[in-house]
Amino acid sequence: KERDPHEEEFYQAVKEIFDSLAPYLAEHPKYQQFGILERLVEPDRFISFRVPWVDDQGAVQVNRGYRVQFNAAIGPYKGGLRFHPTVNSSIVKFLAFEQIFKNALTGQPIGGGKGGADFDPKNKSNAEIMRFTQSFMTELSKHIGPNVDVPAGDIGVGGREINYMVGQYRKLRGSSEAGVFTGKGVDIGGSLTRAESTGYGVIYFVENMLKEFNESLTGKKIIVSGSGKVSIYAMEKAIELGARVVACSDSSGYIYDEKGIDLETVKRLKEVEGKRISAYAEEHDHSSFYGGEKIWQVACDIALPCATQNELDENDASTLIHNGVSIVAEGANMPCTLKAVEQFRENHVGFAPSKAANAGGVAVSALEMAQNSARVSWTFEEVDRQLKEIMQNIFDQSLSAGRQYKCEDNLIDGANIAGFKRVADAMIAQGVL
Ligand code: NDP
Repeated sequence: KERDPHEEEFYQAVKEIFDSLAPYLAEHPKYQQFGILERLVEPDRFISFRVPWVDDQGAVQVNRGYRVQFNAAIGPYKGGLRFHPTVNSSIVKFLAFEQIFKNALTGQPIGGGKGGADFDPKNKSNAEIMRFTQSFMTELSKHIGPNVDVPAGDIGVGGREINYMVGQYRKLRGSSEAGVFTGKGVDIGGSLTRAESTGYGVIYFVENMLKEFNESLTGKKIIVSGSGKVSIYAMEKAIELGARVVACSDSSGYIYDEKGIDLETVKRLKEVEGKRISAYAEEHDHSSFYGGEKIWQVACDIALPCATQNELDENDASTLIHNGVSIVAEGANMPCTLKAVEQFRENHVGFAPSKAANAGGVAVSALEMAQNSARVSWTFEEVDRQLKEIMQNIFDQSLSAGRQYKCEDNLIDGANIAGFKRVADAMIAQGVL
């Protein structure tokens, strides 16, 4: 912490994992002997670079780009790119660090990485987005490749941005390496189900939690923060399985619809028209928009934070608990503060940590890499079947590690221990590097 005191989110992510590991490490001294913790917290490589581009008025703009290649003990670096004004070294390091353990939990051969830029895609023209992503890729292309580092999307980076980056990479390299990116458009080598996979995966994970109590999603009242890629497909699968999603949000506030959110409207507003979520209430008389307010005040059975880090704090946790929430599953990365998580634990709320619950996206990215290598394309049903199986495995591993080392149904410690074990054992096997 003395080396980089400003990296608060990174230390938060490290603390969460190390707290879980303490008793496990005490029983297994080999990890200390091989310096695993000291090696784990230092990235293999931290790349930061200038991204100059010209806006529509002809003015030169400069942003900062990042790629953190954190750990490749079990496969090429894998993790998304985020374009958001809040991106800085702490954010990309916490995301890349989390990604190491998440990727290990999927059982796929992928290491941990993450990147992005402090670029704000809001209110930018299509031409500006293209010029920015091309400039970003001009530098990033020197550091990535299908067997080295395979980026994907994240906040502010979707199919359009990925396609532009794939195009620029191909132009620079003069070769057609489709496997350099995942989340591509289906017609340029992307996998069916990738767009839906993170959100669907969250719901498959929640289904597994409910099954432990012989319950299902039917009739459950759900709230979902955000209305981006993860949120939309979490809502879609939850509704398909009989739940009633009554609220969702964006950074300007939330909408509430007692009858259940009409997802087709949300998809059109967000995916096609690029509007704010408040436009929903203008079209649906029986719904309301609460500007500047947090969604967590809405009473529900299941809460799914799917927007961004630290969006749910201890006060929000108290409100949710007071209103009778029984499950909280993290669709976003680290959306709950450490104090909020503590409250959920103390009050026996079923809690699904992000590195387990939202691993479906990167798992299907690994399936996209496999399809690209083999030059094949699996059906939607086939990829969805594999996604379900992977989410079930992640749940089983996390539950059994929690039971074995903590003697309780604790999915946080369980996921941290199971992910750590796979990476740390691979590091030991390969020597001190
Ligand atoms: P999108 O950009 O598609 O959507 C993000 C949503 O969250 C938007 O509704 C956005 O609202 C809201 N949001 C973003 N930042 C803030 C903020 N600071 N305060 C309030 N609301 C905010 O991103 P994704 O859906 O791809 O990602 C969401 C989360 O899921 C992130 O934590 C990401 O790391 C994680 N994740 C994503 C995966 C994927 O496959 N896409 C995989 C695994 C994890 P607004 O438009 O108003 O900014």
